[in-house]
Amino acid sequence: MDDTDLIDAASRARALSHVPYSEFSMAAAVLTDTGEVRVGAVVENVSLGLAMCAERVALFSTVATDAGRPVALALVSPRTSGSLTHPCGACLQVALELGGPELRVLVADPDGTASTETTLAELLPMGPAKRS
Ligand SMILES: [Zn+2]
Repeated sequence: MDDTDLIDAASRARALSHVPYSEFSMAAAVLTDTGEVRVGAVVENVSLGLAMCAERVALFSTVATDAGRPVALALVSPRTSGSLTHPCGACLQVALELGGPELRVLVADPDGTASTETTLAELLPMGPAKRS
């Protein structure tokens, strides 16, 4: 699976978003070292603090389904203040635990007109990590 396919998987999963409060549909797709892909969509709740980001839904799914170690994370979302939306700090910390600092992070607009690639190490350079 190439980067375009991973972004497409995340883009398709946006339709699964449960966003009755923000109407901010976003979804993620995670590629693992075994070639598996798991998607996740944002899930809101009337008790707003219980919402869960799409990235963590996808990352947790890799664990719950024994799909392997995440090697790439694609996020497709509307822009935030005019900029491509990147994962929040909580999602970066979870990604660091499960994928490590070399995890590739791809972010893209819903219409695919713009995207960027970085690594978890660039986005969370000083995040606490387990010792190996
Ligand atoms: Zn998040």
